[in-house]
Amino acid sequence: MNNYDIIVVGAGPSAAFLAYEVVQLDKSKKVLLIEQGKRVEDRNCPIEKLGKCTKCKPMCHITCGFSGAGAFSDGKLSLYNEEDDDIYVGGVLHEYIGVEETKRLIDYTDEIYLKFGADTKLEGVDYKKEVKKIYDKAKKEDINLVNIPIRHLGTEKSHELYARIEKYLIENGVEILFETTVSDLVIEENRVKGVKVRASKYAEDDNYNNDKIINGDKVVLAVGRKGANWLVKMCDNHNIQTKSGTVDIGIRYELPDKVMKDVNKYMYEGKFISRPYPFRDKVRTFCQNPSGFVSTEVYDNNITLVNGHSYKEKKSTNTNLAILVSHNFNYPFNRPIEYGRNVAKNLNALGNGNIVVQRLGDIYRGKRTWEEELKNNSVEPTLKSAVAGDITFALGYRTMTNILKFISALDKVVEGFAHPDNLLYGPEIKFYSNKLAINNEFETSIKGLYSIGDGGGLTRGLMMASASGVQTARNICKK
Ligand SMILES: Cc1cc2nc3c(=O)[nH]c(=O)nc-3n(C[C@H](O)[C@H](O)[C@H](O)COP(=O)(O)OP(=O)(O)OC[C@H]3O[C@@H](n4cnc5c(N)ncnc54)[C@H](O)[C@@H]3O)c2cc1C
Repeated sequence: MNNYDIIVVGAGPSAAFLAYEVVQLDKSKKVLLIEQGKRVEDRNCPIEKLGKCTKCKPMCHITCGFSGAGAFSDGKLSLYNEEDDDIYVGGVLHEYIGVEETKRLIDYTDEIYLKFGADTKLEGVDYKKEVKKIYDKAKKEDINLVNIPIRHLGTEKSHELYARIEKYLIENGVEILFETTVSDLVIEENRVKGVKVRASKYAEDDNYNNDKIINGDKVVLAVGRKGANWLVKMCDNHNIQTKSGTVDIGIRYELPDKVMKDVNKYMYEGKFISRPYPFRDKVRTFCQNPSGFVSTEVYDNNITLVNGHSYKEKKSTNTNLAILVSHNFNYPFNRPIEYGRNVAKNLNALGNGNIVVQRLGDIYRGKRTWEEELKNNSVEPTLKSAVAGDITFALGYRTMTNILKFISALDKVVEGFAHPDNLLYGPEIKFYSNKLAINNEFETSIKGLYSIGDGGGLTRGLMMASASGVQTARNICKK
């Protein structure tokens, strides 16, 4: 089949921004994005209408399709503080290209978002005095508060913005194969030569043997968390070097807006980080959604995870945020993804395939939560398909202890944070793959094979993922 100058596996934000930058730098380059999901305008999650997750086949609309996990994301673009001499949010791009270069790259990427219609308003830049007060209170509890400017697109607006980018790319000669899955990589003598593809409806058919080969000597892996499992398989099969990785395991926490009102007003998203005793693991809040909604996403082999988002216009009266614990493994077990998947499988089984929800007070009372009790609970769950139950059966002692200690400590900073009616949904897990070993140009141990975005562990959010795409385009085009 055809030869391409650059083949990108996936069409999430990292891939889309790579393609955008190639169009700016060298229009003569033949670029192909291969995406297992649909065009952004054809992505519809049925949960809105049906009130429950129907586990769409062959692919989940929330995680797959043009703009990847970004399409239905809350669209909070994390920027940086001018005065900081480090980058605290979104990934580790700066470890490869330096802090100053990363800041310049974020500025440039932000300009592209603005060009395609992002809101010009920045959250978290006013109220310096008020934020400092919360910061000081948190410090006393051994909690660090990171406050950086955020550009909030909103779920419905993200969808529209990425649709404009998709249109722009196609009009400018970028080819995109939709509903097509990359099943394997073609690697010879430690050099990438292309990819093997098949229609997505056969993605999980182990007996399918009609894969087509697409040739190209620059292949970029931009597979996101959705592709983390596939990436592990590729690394094992093709001897692609990895570094020991992390998996973040935790819950989605839902509580009334009125408890979070100061954090929501002054920062929109407060990023609290701590290392509670006795484990001293990193515990952090992540992806805070004022007046938001708890949501679900389905990964390979029907693993259902919880997430959250908020719209620009449609509002609830609850705030939701993730509380995540970072887990690292070394000897003799070093398969963080497998560990996370097992936790998720157990918890999914307890919820009969659904997300499980439990009141904080019930955990302290040593009991499960019942459906009837939720009906009279002062915090009404926004995820209607969640099943009342007991998450402590599935989250390990270490994860659970970290989360409960963190909640108690944060209660001293944000009064009401540990109210017994607040809700914990599980599992929320961030799979970052076994981190791929890459050089400063994001090239893996295989010549011509690059890894960007969330999938290979380089980034953890929209802005950084998009920026990693821009940088890779520059690296490849200068060659
Ligand atoms: C509900 C939700 C809310 C979020 N909210 C925020 C937020 O507010 N702010 C923020 O910064 N981040 C948020 N995120 C995270 C953000 O969406 C991701 O960090 C970002 O999308 C990562 O971009 P990416 O390009 O690396 O991967 P992804 O966006 O995951 O895209 C990867 C793409 O690759 C495709 N793919 C995978 N494997 C294959 C294969 N073998 N063949 C073909 N295609 C393949 C997938 O279908 C997918 O479309 C949220 C995520 C979710 C799910």
